[in-house]
Amino acid sequence: MPDVRIKTPNLDEIFEKWKLLAVRNDKKKMEKQFGTKGAIFSLDAISAAEYVKDTQKEAAIYFAIKKTVGAVPKDAEEKIVLAPRVVREIFYSFKGEGKLNKENWKGDEKVPTYETIQAVSCKKCSGKGFTEEKCKTCKGTGKIEEKLTVLTGEEQKKEEKPFSYPCGVCFGTGTRKIKCSDCEGHKSVFKYQILPVPFKTVVTGIPVLHSSAQTKYEKEIERDLHQIIEEVEGIRFNDFKELESKSEASLGYWNKNIKKTINSAGSDYKSHSKDKEAQITTQIYLFPMIQMFCETKRGSKFEIYSLGSANKFMIYSNF
Ligand SMILES: [Zn+2]
Ligand SMILES: [Zn+2]
Repeated sequence: MPDVRIKTPNLDEIFEKWKLLAVRNDKKKMEKQFGTKGAIFSLDAISAAEYVKDTQKEAAIYFAIKKTVGAVPKDAEEKIVLAPRVVREIFYSFKGEGKLNKENWKGDEKVPTYETIQAVSCKKCSGKGFTEEKCKTCKGTGKIEEKLTVLTGEEQKKEEKPFSYPCGVCFGTGTRKIKCSDCEGHKSVFKYQILPVPFKTVVTGIPVLHSSAQTKYEKEIERDLHQIIEEVEGIRFNDFKELESKSEASLGYWNKNIKKTINSAGSDYKSHSKDKEAQITTQIYLFPMIQMFCETKRGSKFEIYSLGSANKFMIYSNF
C-alpha cells in the first residue's frame, strides 16, 4: 500500500508566497501596512512569526462532475383522438424558437406538439363518415311495392295490380347512411405526438469543493481547481470509502469540522454518482488547508489560506 501521507506547507512557505503575491497586487497597501517610517520598504523584514497570530489546520475535498443538462428521452408518444377532443388538449409549439433553456422551462418535459396534429382518414368508413346498409323499409330496393285492389268490369272482378312508389326512408336509393361509430361521422380521427421539449443540451464540467475552513473563497477555489488541478498537490482517491478511512492518516491532523466536511462531501459524491445525468470525471482529491489569522502593526486583520501540499499549493487572502 502506497504511503498516503502528504506534507503540508509550513507557515513560512505560505507567508512568503503570500508576500510576493500581495506586493505584486498592491505595493502601496503593503508599504502602508508593513513599512516603517524612514526605512526603505523591504519584504524581508516582514516575517510570519511577527504577523501570524493564529493558525488552523483544515482540509478540502474536491472532485469534478460532468453534467448533461437538458437531455430528455428521445421516444415520442402518439395519441389518436376523435375530432371534438382535439380542442381539449393543450398544445405547444416551438417552431422557429430554437433550442430552449431547460432552467427556464416550467412544465412537462414532453408535451403535445401542435405541428404534429394530423387528420387520419377513418378506416372503418373509409373516410366517408358513414357506412351504408340496406334500407330496412324497402329491403334495399328503393321502392315500396304494394298491391292495389282493382275491381274490373261490370262484374267488378277483384284483381290485384302491382303498385310501387319510392321508399320515403331511403329516398328511393335503397340504402341508408349510418353514422360511423369510429369517427362519429367526422370522416377522420386526429393523431398528434407528445414530443420532448427541444432543450439545449449543455454538457458542463462542474467543480465540487467541500472545505472545512469557513472561507468566502470556496467558489473561487472551486473554479481555480477546475482549471489548474495539476498545479495543486492533493491526495487522490478512487473511491470515497478509501478517502474516509485514510484521510486522518493522510493529513496527519484531524478535527470535528474536517470529519463533518468529509461526511457531507461523501453524501454529495453519492448523490452525483446516482444522478443519471451526471458523471464524475475526476478522482477525489483531499487537500490540506492551512488557515492563518494575521494582524498588521496598524491593527488591520486579515487571513491567508493555503490549499495543497508543501510541493504545490495555492493561496488566497482577504488582505
Ligand atoms: Zn328504402
Ligand atoms: Zn368513420
